[in-house]
Amino acid sequence: MSEASHVPRSVLVTGGAGFIGANFVEHLLDTDDTVKVTTLDALTYAGSLDNLARVIGNPRHAFVKGDITDAPLVNSILADSAIDTIVHFAAESHVDRSITGPAAFITTNVVGTFTLLEAARAAWQGRFGSGVRFHHVSTDEVFGSLNEDDPPFSEATPYSPNSPYSASKAGSDHLVRAYHHTYGLPVTITNCSNNYGPYQHAEKFIPTVIRSALAEKPIPIYGAGLNVRDWLYVGDHCAAIDLVIREGEDGETYLIGGRSERRNIDIASQICAILDELAPRGSGRYADLLTSVTDRLGHDFRYAIDSGRIERELGWHARETFDSGIRLTVDWYLANGSYLARL
Ligand code: NAD
Repeated sequence: MSEASHVPRSVLVTGGAGFIGANFVEHLLDTDDTVKVTTLDALTYAGSLDNLARVIGNPRHAFVKGDITDAPLVNSILADSAIDTIVHFAAESHVDRSITGPAAFITTNVVGTFTLLEAARAAWQGRFGSGVRFHHVSTDEVFGSLNEDDPPFSEATPYSPNSPYSASKAGSDHLVRAYHHTYGLPVTITNCSNNYGPYQHAEKFIPTVIRSALAEKPIPIYGAGLNVRDWLYVGDHCAAIDLVIREGEDGETYLIGGRSERRNIDIASQICAILDELAPRGSGRYADLLTSVTDRLGHDFRYAIDSGRIERELGWHARETFDSGIRLTVDWYLANGSYLARL
């Protein structure tokens, strides 16, 4: 253990009933026998207690239904549960929804993050040097879009968010950094690429492909499907966050990616091929259902991440390749088909 190690004992996970948060709560309780976890989640359309079914009833876990913009509630959780670590996932997270209704993104992602920072500042005043940490989970979308030949994003890439979602996340990143710089609040930030895996909401790209295919409906692909994302298996992301909380340098940012750049059309085709093998159609192949639809407004062309820093400095490496991770994911949705019905 390095001198800088932080040992989380009582962790507040915001947004823990959502996709990545739920995977993280499971990860933490499974890998640390002593840690206590309080999940705070408003259970918006994107959150579900079903995602926490495996940990509900665990004596080291408590669930609180509530909003991160509710300052009295957040203050009381920090005090009553002697929280020493906040892992902040809660957000409005769907880019398409931010285009049609940006207000909720500003409220939750910006005002909500501000509310948590203020609560942490008040609760931990005088203890900044000893055993407290605020970890903020953010996205590579804050860096804008890459062209085909551009080098991947790194910690040095300037911010250039293009959608209301990414702008709201950029705003929250800046607030977290400012609370460190101005008040000395111990913080770490991670910006990751597109996640996939169990518990992802059915509205997102990979569950949409699986859902549409299994329902024998057109599988919608924006434009020609040429947009590129760098895909990260959610279990690898959770392990990376855990490592940053414990070993990451105070005030620093780490980028997390899967070194798995893929075009949307190639991902959809790969999922179709796996489904052809595991759940064949009566006639034809699933790829016959692929259908181009009108592209997203202002659709960023490519995101890619250089995870060199977290690999070099903290020794993190993704364990899943895209081929292994996507198979795990398709297997999981086939075994948990009811998730695909939740839109
Ligand atoms: P998600 O939409 O699946 O889950 C978000 C959770 O936050 C839900 O359970 C929702 O109920 C809760 N929530 C929303 N507003 C809230 C509020 N005001 N108060 C309390 N809870 C609230 O999101 P996700 O995909 O799990 O993403 C988690 C975090 O990771 C987000 O901050 C997102 O920006 C970031 N991120 C996600 C991805 C990805 O590929 N999913 C990539 C990069 C970064």
